[in-house]
Amino acid sequence: MGTTIFAEMSALAGTTGSVNLGQGFPDTDGPREIAAAAAAAIMEGRGNQYPPGPGIAELRQAVAAHQKRFYGLDLDPDSQVLVTAGATEAIAAALIALLEPGDEAIAFEPYYDSYAACIAMAGATRVPVTLRPPDFRPDIDALRAAITSRTRLLLLNTPHNPTGAVFTRDELAQIAALACSHDLLVVSDEVYEHMVYDGVHVPIVSLPGMAGRTVTISSAAKTFSFTGWKIGWVTGTPELVTAVRTVKQFLTYVTGGPFQYAIAEALALPDAYYAAISADLRVKRDFLCAGLAGAGFEVYQPAGTYFITTDVRPLGHTDGMQFCRDLPHRAGVVAIPSVVFYDNVDAGRSQVRFAFCKKQEVLAEALDRLARGARTLSTGTGAAGPARRTGGTGATLPD
Ligand code: PMP
Ligand code: GLN
Repeated sequence: MGTTIFAEMSALAGTTGSVNLGQGFPDTDGPREIAAAAAAAIMEGRGNQYPPGPGIAELRQAVAAHQKRFYGLDLDPDSQVLVTAGATEAIAAALIALLEPGDEAIAFEPYYDSYAACIAMAGATRVPVTLRPPDFRPDIDALRAAITSRTRLLLLNTPHNPTGAVFTRDELAQIAALACSHDLLVVSDEVYEHMVYDGVHVPIVSLPGMAGRTVTISSAAKTFSFTGWKIGWVTGTPELVTAVRTVKQFLTYVTGGPFQYAIAEALALPDAYYAAISADLRVKRDFLCAGLAGAGFEVYQPAGTYFITTDVRPLGHTDGMQFCRDLPHRAGVVAIPSVVFYDNVDAGRSQVRFAFCKKQEVLAEALDRLARGARTLSTGTGAAGPARRTGGTGATLPD
């Protein structure tokens, strides 16, 4: 412990000169005009001192306008929007606000690593419901069976990291019906809302009965390719948003003043920007899926996010963790062992996640390395992988 799997694997990519398809961050920054807007805010003295606790008015209005524009949702920017230090803080503040010791929170596993930590920080108990390959559809009967008298909330994530599943309107309606009939709160993590290739993203808050019980979370990190800025937001009823803000004020108090001005502008970018994100990533998804299949992985094609889940058993491996620890040395590529996202480790032991939010030539280099390493990948022997033979390092890749 002491470090997350993402940090561990990014460090390994650095020390081994590997292509890093592990931690989910793009290798190209977001729009230059948005970076310029942040720089201008700093230089003009906007946001350099503590911004308002709920976030600057411009950004709260922009978040409300975004929810109206894409989903037809009406939100009061003053009482129904809260700016947070990324979705990470939004998740933490929401779970700490809404869960009491002894409560149970249900989440579909595999799940994003902060969920377990934040449920634990709230003194609550996590109850996993497993999504299973090849489609990773939510099992509504299993969800129903997991609900007890202690269940307080459902923690959802669609589009789903790491599987790339995008929950359908019908699936969300069934989940919503259970939330209503058992009087559960829903915390809905929608950070990949604009990265959908098959199907459409439906915010569960838009379904009947959900407005009063849903905390919706999103972030600028993925949509605008500025993962280092840590600007996220929470939307919901005034009561729910107040509860989350009450916790947030003692976690970070406020965050990223100048970046808030820039993200307010980013949210207002034209439809063409949003369309281009998914169009660009769709091509990369298809490219990496085909290449990974060609290298011998079982590939579960994602409908959304920028991650591909694979299974390494066709390569003769059963342990994804060991596979990922060896892969930089064998092939000069870093990936994430999905087992870290599971409580039921047997369900995810042989799954490995690859990120495709990288330049085309970087993906091509990764596939080239995997193809050259195919012999050692599939035999599970031989430490002298292609990274070593070529002397290749990440530094030789175009940036
Ligand atoms: N939720 C999910 C599902 C994620 O993958 C991530 C990673 N970016 C986050 C939340 C955290 O988002 P942020 O970087 O805005 O804190
Ligand atoms: N969300 C990113 C991922 O899933 C990483 C964020 C982090 O490093 N905490 O890879």
